[in-house]
Amino acid sequence: MPEAPKNRGNGAGLGVEGGILDDKNIRALEFIEDVTMNAKEVQMQVLSEIITRNSNVEYLQRHGLNGRVDADTFKKIVPVVTYEDMLPDIERIANGDMSPILCSKPISEFLTSSGTSGGERKLMPTIEEELGRRSLLYSLLMPVMNQSVPGLDEGKGMYFLFVKSEAKTPGGLMARPVLTSYYKSSYFRDRPYDPYTNYTSPNETILCPDSYQSMYSQLLCGLCQNKEVLRVGAVFASGFIRAVRFLEKHWVLLCKDIRAGTLDSQINDPSVREAVKRILKPNPELADFIEAECRRESWEGIITRLWPNTKYIDVIVTGTMSQYIPTLDYYSNGLPLVCTMYASSECYFGLNLNPLCKPSEVSYTLIPTMAYFEFLPVNRKNGFTNVSESAPLNEKEHQELVDLVDVKLGQEYELVVTTYAGLYRYRVGDILCVAGFKNKAPQFKFICRKNVALSIDSDKTDEFELQNAVKNAADHLLQFDASVTEYTSYADTSTIPGHYVLYWEIGLSGATPIPPSVFEDCCLIMEESLNSVYRQGRASDKSIGPLEIRIVEGGTFDKLMDYALSQGASINQYKTPRCVKYAPIIELLNSRVVSNYFSPKCPKWVAGHKQWCT
Ligand code: AMP
Repeated sequence: MPEAPKNRGNGAGLGVEGGILDDKNIRALEFIEDVTMNAKEVQMQVLSEIITRNSNVEYLQRHGLNGRVDADTFKKIVPVVTYEDMLPDIERIANGDMSPILCSKPISEFLTSSGTSGGERKLMPTIEEELGRRSLLYSLLMPVMNQSVPGLDEGKGMYFLFVKSEAKTPGGLMARPVLTSYYKSSYFRDRPYDPYTNYTSPNETILCPDSYQSMYSQLLCGLCQNKEVLRVGAVFASGFIRAVRFLEKHWVLLCKDIRAGTLDSQINDPSVREAVKRILKPNPELADFIEAECRRESWEGIITRLWPNTKYIDVIVTGTMSQYIPTLDYYSNGLPLVCTMYASSECYFGLNLNPLCKPSEVSYTLIPTMAYFEFLPVNRKNGFTNVSESAPLNEKEHQELVDLVDVKLGQEYELVVTTYAGLYRYRVGDILCVAGFKNKAPQFKFICRKNVALSIDSDKTDEFELQNAVKNAADHLLQFDASVTEYTSYADTSTIPGHYVLYWEIGLSGATPIPPSVFEDCCLIMEESLNSVYRQGRASDKSIGPLEIRIVEGGTFDKLMDYALSQGASINQYKTPRCVKYAPIIELLNSRVVSNYFSPKCPKWVAGHKQWCT
């Protein structure tokens, strides 16, 4: 197997010299060449290594692998599964069973995915060595970027990075998001000096669990070093826009601190104060400059105005995040939007080898050393796929699964992974389309996540959850002899943070008008009914705004159907869409709104699974 590039630049305070940096970049690019050229062999080696190591774990034994380690047997007898299929095993591990159920190496922690099952985050098992694999993928990003934008080693990156709350499973394993796990690991905290991971945010500000203090201190440090900043970013577009919004709200306080060189008393985490003080010096001139820019009526181009040397914004804008492209363009005067990588809690997948391409053209090259990848062909029609999410695959579908190097250009597939940490032929739920090849390795456009109707940040709400939430709220109207006769929904990202909008058409047989407070209660009931990731976004991260119900005039949904028929839909097959995105439809709905209501408070949310707290 090609050897991964080693981090040779142990600068130890001396800095990584140009020669060493060039050498590191070259070796990273050679690694990519190597593994993509030998994609088939590397994939077979990865699979062989995973099954040889784990041939005796309970899960594979149960399926009858009986110590056989060849790929053909593996593919013949190990089923393709969803999270629900694995849940009993995951629960045993979470409850403290330390025997080798899924993996011969000890499960070090659970990574809490933004995908949910039964309203709670999915728990993905991981092992210590996976941190090394994640770190490897990160180490490839800047050498690739350097080819398109050289000189990034001469300045800093202003990245808004955050840790989120952690919980312990009943058996005592940590359960936390993958990035929280990574930022808290020594791979991130004790990284040797490298000009490519030289961020304006000191580690202490990233690792601060209080989201206000973390954001405030990261922005303050970013503003203090504004001339040095060559690139800005966050993980997802929504997170970056939230930082701009925070600046809009708090620039007066930030300028006060920069002018006097003092730190606001709300920042009371001692390690954050210590770290910020190393950077913050009284700078009235800079404070005047920032104040003048922020006072201007228009915030168009604010990023390039405050950080004038910025060359690009590094955020994911593929998938549902594409809804934020216009806002980012506005704030940045159209700076390039760069999507560097594609990853998940299950496994880090790959990277974009052409980072300056347009967001609509982004494709990710899966790195064959990360896991063993298989692909289930899907044909989508009207948003529905030919393979069911929950039913086990039939024999024919099993046989249709193809290896990484056998995918066909233009075909869409669902991604299936076998990981070192104990997922075997696991359906990730992402639909990808083959857009090209890097040597023998395919490059995939991210098409969508299956069954996601609404998403603002990392929340993913499907139609079933939405239906359940509407039903629970609509029950509240029964006392008024009223019912929700039709509904649809929309992720409104014109507000910051974005929020869910529900359009309701009401059938009212009773004589008593429905008071506004009842609709507000309906908003909250819906929010309480949604999954834990949504409620965390509302209650803890504040990355999602209050849910809104817009009541539309009677007959609006007939008009919606008329519109769909005029656009060629078949009357026999027409179903009210439960989520709308198309601007003319949203305009039609908005033109018929008679009243609107917002959720009056945040829904309840606790870190960890609900059942762990009882
Ligand atoms: P999580 O398991 O919560 O880390 O979420 C992982 C999921 O986020 C993936 O399975 C994708 O659905 C989505 N995702 C991750 N990276 C990207 C990307 N670059 N573009 C679009 N969606 C992404």
